[in-house]
Amino acid sequence: MKAVRWHARDDVRVDDVPVPMPGHGEVVLRIEGAAICGTDVDEVRAGPVTVPVRPHPVSGRSAPITLGHEMVGVVASVGSGSTLAVGDRVAPWPSRPCGRCRDCLTGHENRCPDTVALGMSADGGMADFLVVDGARCVRIGTGVALERAVLVEPYAVALHALRRVDVAGRRVAVVGTGSLGLCVVEAVARAGASEVVAVDRSSDALEPASGAGATASMTPDGAPAIDADIAIEAAGADAAVAVAIAAARRGGTVVVLGGHVRPTAVDLLDVTVREIVLQGCVSHAFTDFAAAARAIDAGELAAVERPVEVAPLRDGPALLRTGGGHAKRILVPEAA
Ligand SMILES: [Zn+2]
Ligand SMILES: [Zn+2]
Repeated sequence: MKAVRWHARDDVRVDDVPVPMPGHGEVVLRIEGAAICGTDVDEVRAGPVTVPVRPHPVSGRSAPITLGHEMVGVVASVGSGSTLAVGDRVAPWPSRPCGRCRDCLTGHENRCPDTVALGMSADGGMADFLVVDGARCVRIGTGVALERAVLVEPYAVALHALRRVDVAGRRVAVVGTGSLGLCVVEAVARAGASEVVAVDRSSDALEPASGAGATASMTPDGAPAIDADIAIEAAGADAAVAVAIAAARRGGTVVVLGGHVRPTAVDLLDVTVREIVLQGCVSHAFTDFAAAARAIDAGELAAVERPVEVAPLRDGPALLRTGGGHAKRILVPEAA
């Protein structure tokens, strides 16, 4: 089978690898599509960030690794002990936390320091097939279009953020309205924020924000006037953190949701003087992932027409080397 594998800095290519076999409790998915996330592009262009170059302490894996953690597939074969059946359409949870550490035991498995992440420290979904833990798959109805089905993972990130901050009745700014940011806008609006102000440099990116539930939208120069109770940075760009801080009111909270692979300079005097609370927020727990799948199955994220680019798996390396525009790019295996 074909797999898009990261070998080393800027060396990403389509390799021929054996189709995996399911072990006890596992299933093999025939991948329907795997979306390219900003973290995949960071890995290829600025990595290694998350792909281990020496054997990972838990998975034992090191590069080359198949990328992709936002995927949907259909069960093609089932190992002993799994309750899934051939033909089930599922999204696999891309995390394998240790289950034993303080964070895992208190429902914060997204923070587990020993987690194995599919597409990072174990093989991910940019391939024809992927072997996964059947118990950590969530079902997706066949009526959900591929471009929404691959949003279970980013929507889970957005829903998790709402377990870190309570947005009900609050004025919320969302900085960055790419694919993740639009998920955050919708989650925040549905959670009862009194106002949702979308902020992005690009008017194209801001366009779909009102459909997702934004009550206003503006470019970053307008940020200081927002006076947000909560500002959520969902862009992963250095400048967006400063914009989120500027958008927060005195005593407000800034949630850093975007991935920042390098240290970012922030004006700490401003943070101190205005008593801003900086809240980190990473990934999601399995409950967030299952909730995201149920929500998408029930029609959430359907109101927004998202820019999408669907490409064959063989185009993966070229697409990963470029940052891309605002479209969510989805790699699909070619018919065998
Ligand atoms: Zn991602
Ligand atoms: Zn753990």
